[in-house]
Amino acid sequence: MSMGCTKEHEPHNCCADLHTHTTASDGLLSPSELIKKSAAAGLCAVGIADHDTIDGIAEAYEASKQYGIEVVPAVELNTRFGKEEIHILGYYIQTDLVWFKNILSDIRHSRQIRARKMVDNLRRLYGMDITYEEVEIEAKDGVIARPHIARALIKKQLVTDMSEAFAKYIGNNCPAYEPRFRLTTEEGIRVVSEAGGVPVLAHPGLLSDAGLVNYVIRLGVKGIEVYHSKHTPEQCRRYDQLARKYGLLITGGSDYHGYNEAGGVNLGDVKVPYDVVDKLKKFAAESEKNIINKA
Ligand SMILES: [Zn+2]
Ligand SMILES: [Zn+2]
Repeated sequence: MSMGCTKEHEPHNCCADLHTHTTASDGLLSPSELIKKSAAAGLCAVGIADHDTIDGIAEAYEASKQYGIEVVPAVELNTRFGKEEIHILGYYIQTDLVWFKNILSDIRHSRQIRARKMVDNLRRLYGMDITYEEVEIEAKDGVIARPHIARALIKKQLVTDMSEAFAKYIGNNCPAYEPRFRLTTEEGIRVVSEAGGVPVLAHPGLLSDAGLVNYVIRLGVKGIEVYHSKHTPEQCRRYDQLARKYGLLITGGSDYHGYNEAGGVNLGDVKVPYDVVDKLKKFAAESEKNIINKA
């Protein structure tokens, strides 16, 4: 499945996978390993879009010099709209704004508290022999996320795989699930803009209510992630049309988390022509006037 960009179709172009995760959040590869793998996959640019953190970007930049890969700095914010979770990608956010880093660290802190509560729930409700420290080991120094709890459960053979962990225990509204602090979608889009970035609606095909896409467009996203490893060709077509209708950027990426964990998704499985990177840069240059330098 190579959507959006193939070298055969784009002889004068190269391809960019604009959505990946590293060990800075819940990915399995370090930023350097990811950059190395991007080079091996024949990509020319890769978007580092960790959940609620920009901590992997500096290392990715460093590694990119060695491998000739262009880093597209990004962040993925899991925002809330009512009961729905809407993911907002922020491309080319400035990485030196103290207020922005503080918001991200508040979110990460609430993830830790939430993970502790979920571990307690698993122990209390199911008598599972699992500790918060074991989950922390899975997260290494990165942002603690539910996949880390799932991996700890897998290691202890309390579940067979990631999907069982989510379906039975820690998925949204499952018995051991706990909510955490999230920005609203509106706030998420605003902080990305005020940090000089380009807000993009991530994988709209994963929303349970397709009508929400129009709502998010009205809130001011500048692009839609039309191409994503979990989108069907039909969804890609539909979101492509929608993006064109509203003059929004068409982005795409694999949402690679490392190895073949998430249903066999590989780095570069979904990619877009390099033009998209140029367009993102142009939008980011416009967004610079929104930058707020609040302390
Ligand atoms: Zn996402
Ligand atoms: Zn993602």
